[in-house]
Amino acid sequence: MAIKNDYLDRVYTDLSKRYPEQKEFLEAVAEVLTSLVPVIESDDKYEKNGIIERIVEPERAVSFRVSWVDDAGKVRVNTGYRIQFNSAIGPYKGGLRFRDNVTLSVIKFLGFEQTFKNSLTTLPMGGAKGGSDFDPKGKSDGEIMRFCQAFMNELYRHIGPDTDVPAGDIGVGGREIGYLFGQYKKLANNWSGVLTGKGLSYGGSLARPEATGFGLMYFASAMLKDANKSLKGSKVIISGSGNVAIYSCQKATELGAKVIAMSDSNGYIVDENGIDYKVIKEIKEVKRDRISTYINYVPTAKYYVGCEGIWNNKCDYAFPCATQNEISKESAETLVKNGTKGVFEGANMPSTPEAIEVIKKNGLLFSPSKASNAGGVAVSGLEMSQNAERLSWSFEQVDGMLKDIMEKIYNSCAEAAEKYGMPGDIQAGANIAGFLKVADAMIAQGIV
Ligand code: NDP
Repeated sequence: MAIKNDYLDRVYTDLSKRYPEQKEFLEAVAEVLTSLVPVIESDDKYEKNGIIERIVEPERAVSFRVSWVDDAGKVRVNTGYRIQFNSAIGPYKGGLRFRDNVTLSVIKFLGFEQTFKNSLTTLPMGGAKGGSDFDPKGKSDGEIMRFCQAFMNELYRHIGPDTDVPAGDIGVGGREIGYLFGQYKKLANNWSGVLTGKGLSYGGSLARPEATGFGLMYFASAMLKDANKSLKGSKVIISGSGNVAIYSCQKATELGAKVIAMSDSNGYIVDENGIDYKVIKEIKEVKRDRISTYINYVPTAKYYVGCEGIWNNKCDYAFPCATQNEISKESAETLVKNGTKGVFEGANMPSTPEAIEVIKKNGLLFSPSKASNAGGVAVSGLEMSQNAERLSWSFEQVDGMLKDIMEKIYNSCAEAAEKYGMPGDIQAGANIAGFLKVADAMIAQGIV
């Protein structure tokens, strides 16, 4: 693909020659660089300082062997990654993902995106991401613990409260963070807030589990308000049924919307009466079961095999909260045909570039993940502040700060889009607002 600026296009072409197999990463870079054309053309300082060449290359990328023993006594080996992308505005910060489809390309795309997302939160956090091709699904608690310990045996030398503070992501929840934290403490002989998403009894923040989902709904509410619309009385679809989806469902319901469909990687449920988030919580967080069992608790609901069909249902607003590239061009066309008025991304990059084109061309509201799902990392930033202060703030205090941050993120995206001649384009605005702060810090710090 060609980017309509010589400098940006040159950097992108060179990057695609160096990493032709890194599809997800290249897709994420192309998406950001395309939005930056007016910024690069407004000032030659970015090219003079080689900002784009530097911002697309991680400062450090670590790949390591993780050897562990399963319950049957068999030795297992996985690959671990930590990509420390950019530390211009603060210590590296970003989640760990454990899933069988994790590759270097996926972690690089997530780390690249994280740099801009963290910048948008206004908190001092650089960008990073990590993980492994280990899939916790179907593993016993003992296997999960041994894997997490083996993973930390290498990771601990690359992280620290002022260096790099990992968190959770897909497949890494409170249980995994606990095991990772315990092993870090043992190896480093040091008690510090080196991971976020910790349990409340050992330095976690209230409202962290809720933060990404609640934040998504606060962001969507701000955007809808600007368009004289509201979640109240609307019908919404939320894909996924993990951390982000569950708390999105809770906040959407509290704000007066009806959540009519949710999914997991096997299938989806529909209930026009509104899905009960408390039942989803019980199934997913307590029983660690499949979403198909929802119909055993709520007989008015129906279960369908296959997750993509979820977008065929009629809704006012769609919230993809499961995984990357889950809304294809065809699904986007169906949403348009069904009269959907907005798509707000909760997962990281859940819409393909072709889907985004369809969504925007047809005038639907669209919020990109790096802006609308920044609530999780924002509260992780607040957890770091509480750890540094050795204090714990109340749920209301943290939730209030989260709401304020999400509204500010929306405003800064809208203002940047307006300033650079693309009013209403929140995708471009997010890329520009996130980029400017990081680029200015990089220029101030010289060529390092
Ligand atoms: P979880 O592991 O808690 O949940 C992921 C959910 O998505 C599970 O219900 C999973 O189902 C489902 N899923 C996976 N693949 C598909 C698919 N192809 N179709 C439908 N459902 C699918 O992860 P999170 O909720 O934490 O993360 C979800 C997304 O949000 C990711 O993109 C993540 O990077 C992003 N995110 C998360 C943040 C957080 O704070 N947790 C912060 C910012 C972004 P199954 O049980 O079958 O695997």
